[in-house]
Formats: sequence, C-alpha cells, structure tokens
Amino acid sequence: MSDTLIRVLAFTFGALWGSFLNVCISRWPAGQSVVAPRSRCPNCERPIAWYENVPVLSWVALRARCRGCGKLISVMYPLVELAVAFTWLISVANFGPTLTALRVAVFATLLLGIAMTDARHYIIPDGFTVFGLMWIMAFSVVGLITAEPGPFAPPYEALIGACAGAGAIAIAGWLGEVALRKEAMGFGDVTLMAVVGAAVGPQLALLTIFLGAGIGTVAYVLIIYPVRLIRLKRERRARPETPDDGEGIVPIIPFGVFLAPAAVIALLWGRVIIDWYLASVVRYG
Ligand SMILES: [Zn+2]
Repeated sequence: MSDTLIRVLAFTFGALWGSFLNVCISRWPAGQSVVAPRSRCPNCERPIAWYENVPVLSWVALRARCRGCGKLISVMYPLVELAVAFTWLISVANFGPTLTALRVAVFATLLLGIAMTDARHYIIPDGFTVFGLMWIMAFSVVGLITAEPGPFAPPYEALIGACAGAGAIAIAGWLGEVALRKEAMGFGDVTLMAVVGAAVGPQLALLTIFLGAGIGTVAYVLIIYPVRLIRLKRERRARPETPDDGEGIVPIIPFGVFLAPAAVIALLWGRVIIDWYLASVVRYG
C-alpha cells in the first residue's frame, strides 16, 4: 500500500472515530448509553440518517442546521471530527502503519474526549478511563510480545505508573484541599492520572502533573482569570444591586483539560525534557 493511501485511510478512520467520540462526549456526562438509541437531533429528536452523519461533510452540506427543526448544529461536532482525523493522520505519518501509531492515536483520542467533557461538564467519564486503562495495560503486553514498545511503558512499569500517577494527584488534591479549605481536585483527575501513568510510566506521570500545572497556570493568568473578571464586571454593571462579596472570582478549574495535553507531551517528548532538565541541573547546580 502506498504511503498516501495509508494516510488517507488513517484520516478517514480518525474522522469516523471522531464522530463516535462526539457521541461519547454528548451522552456519557448525561449518563446515557453510547450504543442506543440511534443518533438524533437533541432539539427535535428527529433520527439522523447515515448520509446526514458523515463526519465534517454532512455538517457543511447541511449548513450546520438540523433538517427537521432548523436548529443550529454546534461547530464542536466537525471540529472534534477534524481534530481526531488529524491526530490519526499525524500518528501514522510519524510512526508509519504500526502498532505504535495505533496506540498513540487511541491515547490522544481518549485524552481529547476527557478534556472536552471536563471542560464542558467538569466530568471525566469512567467510560473513557476504564476503557483507557484496560486498553493501555493490554497493549503494554502486546508491545512486549511483539518487541515494539514505542514510547509506552512496558507492563510492570505501566502498573507502577498507574499507581504513581493516581497517588501523586490524590496527594496534590488532598494538600490543595487543606490549603484552599475547599475541594481542589475531583476524583476524575485521579482516574485520569491512573490511565496516563499506565501509558507513560511513573517518572513521566509525575512530569505530566508538573507540566499540567504549568500549562494550567499560564492559561489561568492569560485567559481564564481575565475573561472571568470581564464577565463579572459586565454582570455587575447590568445588575449593580448584586453584593460584591468577592465570591465567584476564583472559578472551578477543570484540571483534566491541562493534564490531557501534558500527557501527550510527556509521552512523546518526556525523556527529552527530563534529560535536558538533568543536564541543566548538572551545569548550573
Ligand atoms: Zn432538529
């Protein structure tokens, strides 16, 4: 098979998985099944035919509107489909048509789903994390047998990594709770870090938490806090009688949104980052 054909197939597969990921993202936080019923319009409940459900293309062809009730279909759907399609394309372009490409693509797809539900609902569904843990553990064994571990941890490291990831984030959450005197970390973050730790091993699981905290801090200072401040000011102007008690200025931060990209960075470049860090410590320390 030619390289181009393989890449086209990877992109198409990715788009289809992206379409399924949309179903998971919209249904799991509501406690619904992803298998039944068939896809329908969330507004008018009209069932969606297969030709209205082709990734990206249908959204464009329908001009982003339901054919039944005319309600706008969120741009989230084609964007998620495109993101997953490109994830699978980039994986195959980098690792070739290999087991490693499949594992990287599935891992990144899972993390995208987790980041989306955490951002939208502050929920990390067990559907993602339980499947992720089982998939990663199973393929760490497959990687050992086929002698193709790729960037993933081998089975024993994966087991220790799951415990280290979950344990470290639980400790961080516990100390955060003591310091802030309120719930700082959801249990979803613990399950997410078990999955990440199984994929990258204990050392890079800790790196993921550091990177996630770093990305989160930058996002908080540059985006989340200013946006929140502007919105609160606007609300006060609209309703001046609301008491200014300083409440609501510190929003809940879905940490999974930042752990997800951090995990991909740790998987692909974690060794390089740690080597670079150790070299700088030796040079300046
Ligand atoms: Zn409709």
